[in-house]
Amino acid sequence: MEISFTGKQALVTGAGKGIGRSTALALARCGARVTAVTRTQADLNSLVQECPAIVPVCVDLADWAATEAALKDVGPIDLLVNNAACTKLQPFLEVTPDQFDLLFNVNVKAVLHISQMVAGGMKARGSGGSIVNVSSQASQRALRDHTVYCATKGALDMLTKVMALELGPHQIRVNSVNPTVVMTKMGHLGWSDPEKAQTMKSRIPLGRFAEEEDVVNCILFLLSEKSSMINGVALPVDGGHLAC
Ligand code: NAP
Repeated sequence: MEISFTGKQALVTGAGKGIGRSTALALARCGARVTAVTRTQADLNSLVQECPAIVPVCVDLADWAATEAALKDVGPIDLLVNNAACTKLQPFLEVTPDQFDLLFNVNVKAVLHISQMVAGGMKARGSGGSIVNVSSQASQRALRDHTVYCATKGALDMLTKVMALELGPHQIRVNSVNPTVVMTKMGHLGWSDPEKAQTMKSRIPLGRFAEEEDVVNCILFLLSEKSSMINGVALPVDGGHLAC
């Protein structure tokens, strides 16, 4: 299936590493003009070195005001990927308020905020558009030591549905991808212990973790016109984990 984003403007958050970086590069290869947002300047430098057409924006998405200031001049966006997220492993009884606030700020509140800015522009222009939120299997599966992360991704799935409901009439589609483990920086944090990894893999009918490319391909599909009647779904990219 050929997907072209020639003439489209895309914005990807968390584009410095992992799934977000691969998504930004894939979008650029498909012809989109890409704005890459993350908080580590060195990652943006290497990204622009790899793909000079990418426009870098360095901001900490946990900061509402700084995000607004950083993104106010990015111009019209047709395709938005809300990918940035963070996690911290804490047993439920040890969850701290600072981590609760940080994770909800980045994983949920920043998605709401950036989507308001981008979708507001789409609505005003009457251009329509497509938004993909990067959620997780953790939105629907309890994972030990992932209390707040699971809660943020559950919230993100419902945010996706309400956005789909309210933005659909403006021809703005909103969907999420919900991957299983991918061995990025974040993946290593939770799953580098071989015993834990094996237990998780044994629950995945396909018997393996996802690769970044597995997730990127689904994001590109949901952004593209090939999915023009899909709105409000949470698409598992999990080898069947959520099916059982
Ligand atoms: P990653 O390798 O840790 O990359 C996350 C990116 O987001 C990094 O560039 C990071 O920048 C950026 N970011 C984090 N907090 C930020 C903030 N406050 N402001 C701006 N940028 C920020 O993670 P990943 O595995 O690619 O995860 C991407 C998405 O997939 C996330 O939504 C995650 O929840 C989801 N997901 C991941 C897995 C997995 O197993 N990896 C599974 C399911 C879903 P810094 O490095 O500078 O902090």
